[in-house]
Amino acid sequence: MTKIVLKLGGSLITKKDIKKFPLEIEEIKQRADEYIRLNEIKRIGKEVKEAMNEKPIQLVLINGAGPFGHFLVKRNRPDDDVRASVKLLNEKLVSELRKIGIDAVPIPPSESCEFVGDQFDISYLWEVGKVLLEEGKTLSTYGDVLQGGKVISGDDLIVLIAEHWQADTIITATDVDGVFTRDPKIYKDAKFIRVLGSENDVKVEYTIDSIDVTGGMESKVKKLRHAATNGVNCQIINGLKEGNIKAALLGDESIGTLITS
Ligand code: ADP
Repeated sequence: MTKIVLKLGGSLITKKDIKKFPLEIEEIKQRADEYIRLNEIKRIGKEVKEAMNEKPIQLVLINGAGPFGHFLVKRNRPDDDVRASVKLLNEKLVSELRKIGIDAVPIPPSESCEFVGDQFDISYLWEVGKVLLEEGKTLSTYGDVLQGGKVISGDDLIVLIAEHWQADTIITATDVDGVFTRDPKIYKDAKFIRVLGSENDVKVEYTIDSIDVTGGMESKVKKLRHAATNGVNCQIINGLKEGNIKAALLGDESIGTLITS
């Protein structure tokens, strides 16, 4: 069994680049579908299912929040509303995955993780999650606001779970082909970086979306480099390109950027 942590970025499953988002939870519930990329979720779900049919994979699936989290935190909305909003997004994702036949079971971080001293404690989430995985289920969790107000991002969770689990691989699926020398959405001359790590320590400039509250691509790369030092294979791929997620799950390392220690 290959142990894989797959992150579906907020920029992949939601319309993260929108400028407006409802601030009241009732309106978010009513209009959620306007901000979710449902067709991408359905396609990604199929790719995950096909890969799992072709190869024995144990899967932890982590999703980012997009505007469902970032936008509300940025606007100082009450923590309970942010929790309800990110939970709603995860429920929509899990419901689609289950329709496709993926036995995904959600564990909300706000009900299972703590921030103690200066670090996250995910031991309870992991205690429950480990059992689910042993039962052949897929653990689904997501960026959330913990009790006390600390935000735990999807990128924090991938690294923490990979450590607890001693995962083989982390695949981070986002909306660009990988890491570039500069933000490829802004700079046409940005050059794609195939391998990024101490042996190929290219100078990279990062930009961050104005609504992002968890550090964007720069923080993702930093966290993945930390995971890579613990021996985990780390790959950042474009999940919007059909077939990429399935191929990466089946072990194709020729896609995207590989992050090494
Ligand atoms: P996600 O929401 O999928 O986790 P992020 O928004 O955190 O993804 O990061 C992906 C975004 O990072 C891309 O949409 C891209 O515009 C931006 N970005 C900024 N700098 C870079 C860079 N040097 N290389 C690649 N992407 C970058």
